[in-house]
Amino acid sequence: MARAATATIDLAAFRENYRLAKSLAPTQQAVAIIKADAYGHGAVKMAFALEPDADAFGVACIEEALELREAGINKPILLLEGFFTKDELPIISENNFWCAVHSVEQIDSIAQAHLSKPMTVWLKMDSGMHRLGIMPNDYHEAYERLNNLEQVADIVLMSHFANADSLNCPITKKQINCFDEFSQTLKAPVSIANSAALLGHDNTRRNFQRPGIMLYGATPFSNPHPLADKLKPVMTLTSEIIAIREVPAGEGVGYSHRHICNQPTLVGTVAMGYADGYPRHAVDGTPIIVNGQRTAIIGRVSMDMLTVDLTQIEGVAVGSKVELWGNELAAAEVASYCDTIPYTLFTGITRRVHKKYINE
Ligand SMILES: *Cc1c(COP(=O)(O)O)cnc(C)c1O
Repeated sequence: MARAATATIDLAAFRENYRLAKSLAPTQQAVAIIKADAYGHGAVKMAFALEPDADAFGVACIEEALELREAGINKPILLLEGFFTKDELPIISENNFWCAVHSVEQIDSIAQAHLSKPMTVWLKMDSGMHRLGIMPNDYHEAYERLNNLEQVADIVLMSHFANADSLNCPITKKQINCFDEFSQTLKAPVSIANSAALLGHDNTRRNFQRPGIMLYGATPFSNPHPLADKLKPVMTLTSEIIAIREVPAGEGVGYSHRHICNQPTLVGTVAMGYADGYPRHAVDGTPIIVNGQRTAIIGRVSMDMLTVDLTQIEGVAVGSKVELWGNELAAAEVASYCDTIPYTLFTGITRRVHKKYINE
């Protein structure tokens, strides 16, 4: 007996999605992005599932990288945000972490560091996202400085897109042109593609791809896309109906009675709420699967529960299975009803939800 809220994580689907990412540039390398606890899927588990296949892993920060090393992951690990304080530098070189460098201050720190062996640096250019990175005009000089430091081994040229999920978008073209223009004379490998770029912009496929969300089976695009539609969902979030009642027309359901029944309605209560990570922003009409049939959320999502319309559902009873997203309902579709994207749905899953790994 236990509360049924469960995230079932399909490791075979995860590996398949990685193989798809890799197949788009098969002679190049793919860094599997598993930051933020592998987008909420459990970083150590996901890293081990991919350790034989993955060329490298990418995380946000050294704490996430050390968790993987201490668990026994030996592949290179890229720190996407680089280092925050100088005392990280010796640990980075000892552990063979690849380190993004996005500012002149970071280059100064590396120049002053005492390292037992040189480190691999991913030099980031701000090609137009305007969040992190060396400005294009300063990029060449930053490269030359790093290239002359004994603390630096290899350098990879890196940038990140602001709008790659929008196809035929001039912003992405402009960023690619800017990156190419200000890096063309530098003889180093290049990494610019996240999932959306890798799937949707073939001229971004360079030496190292950085797929994230696609590995978890969610499309980065809001429209159907021939490659993204081949991705397999990895996380299936399920729970159960724990109560059923008939509510007369005119009555309201849940907090603030956001939903008023305009006809007699069979209302089911599901053991899943915002404290599990299901978004409170879900509007009435957000799709949900009950007993294998599609229906909708009615009423506000509360902390531990939410309510659904069972009026048209066949064979439903207390204990009937509910899928919030996953194999039968794309997380991206749910996200579109919640004013968000699948990234926040996955990373929002809390530790109260039991994680079950399948197809190890
Ligand atoms: C998170 C991240 C990625 C992966 O992005 P997705 O959209 O999940 O594919 C790639 N590169 C950088 C720098 C990132 O921060």
